[in-house]
Parts: sequence; C-alpha cells; structure tokens
Amino acid sequence: KFITFEGGEGAGKTSVIQQLSQILQDENVDFITTREPGGIKISESIRHIILDTNNKEMDGRTEALLYAAARRQHLVERVIPALELGKIVLCDRFLDSSLVYQGIARRLGLEEVYAINSFAIENSLPKLTFYFDIEPEKGLARIAQNKEREINRLDQENLEFHYKVREGYLKLLEMFPERIIKINADRPLEEVVDETKEKLFSYLNI
Ligand code: C5P
Ligand code: MG
Repeated sequence: KFITFEGGEGAGKTSVIQQLSQILQDENVDFITTREPGGIKISESIRHIILDTNNKEMDGRTEALLYAAARRQHLVERVIPALELGKIVLCDRFLDSSLVYQGIARRLGLEEVYAINSFAIENSLPKLTFYFDIEPEKGLARIAQNKEREINRLDQENLEFHYKVREGYLKLLEMFPERIIKINADRPLEEVVDETKEKLFSYLNI
C-alpha cells in the first residue's frame, strides 16, 4: 500500500511521519518511510541541484523535469521494490507536490505537469494521501523557528506563491476526494498525529 503525505511549508509532514513511524513499529507493521525529492542517491543528487540556493535562474520546466526524473528513479529503486515485498510505503511528498508547486504555483499547467509525470510514474499512483493544511503565514512562522531545517531555494518565494500552493492542494482535494484526506495541521503535533493515525489505521484495518 502506497501512502503519501502532502502539504505546504511548515505543515509538519516530516514530524508526523516520524511519529507514525514509531507507532507502526510498536504495532509490528511492515513498512518503510521515504521522502521526495530524494530518498536514494541519484534522487538526492537531483534534489540538491533543484534546491541549491545558488541556482536562482532555474527555468520552471527544467525544475518540473528534474522533479519528475528524481521521482522516477526513487519509484523504481525504492518504492516499487518495497510494495512488491508487501510493505506499506509512507512517502513524504509525491506527484501532488509537482501538480501543485510546478503546475499551479509556477503556472506551468496541471495538464502539462501531469503529462510528464505520468511518463515518469506510469501507473504507480498512491492509494491514499494525507494533505496537511495550514495557513501559509503560520507554516512559514514554524519554519523560521526550526533551526535544523536546511535553507532552500523555495525560501526566497513570496507569500503569494505559498498561497497558490495552498489553493492548489485544495483544488486537488476537490478533484480526488476519494484519495486525499485533509488534516487540519494548525494544531499541536500530538493532535495531528492522533487524527492521522486513526485514519491510517482504519484504512489499513488495524
Ligand atoms: O518536503 P520538503 O520541505 O523537504 O521539500 C523541500 C522543498 O522542495 C520545499 O521547499 C518544497 O516546497 C519544494 N518542492 C517543490 N516542488 C515539489 C516538491 C518540493 O518546490 N514538487
Ligand atoms: Mg518536511
């Protein structure tokens, strides 16, 4: 079962996945956690190119193609083999991030970005997606507090960009209501983890 975690900056995806990981271990569930862009060597190298703060002049379509390439390699090298072993895969970001960040926020178009990604992923779509929703100002304020987080090229985007990201996710939620579950991320981490855990367990029948 392929499950993805989505949301704007500072929504808390990574922290929720870390906590869920502990809970699933205690339940003896066979799973892996991974992240995009990255997760494996080639894709982490591509991540570095995309997010390097020095690459300010990167063209939007170049960015979209690099994300799709990183996604492809990560999918074939890490996600699909785990799924074939019957493991549950929890992935921090996937296709929806590209539809939203490149398709909507960078205005490349949902259809175009979907097209290159469909080439990259073939039929490997997630079965369930948690979308962590928070107002951009609040998410960005959390990030500003977190000194461990690496600075990246996206940190130079203005607030309007982050609003478009949120609108984009809300649009996807309308398009795929049976796949995407919205979680209110503007709450203490424990509450967010509890609700996500409950919904995840009910999906997995545990
Ligand atoms: O999830 P994480 O915060 O590690 O993502 C790293 C950066 O990549 C974020 O700033 C995110 O907004 C950006 N990103 C993007 N387009 C994607 C995926 C991630 O701009 N398709
Ligand atoms: Mg994160």
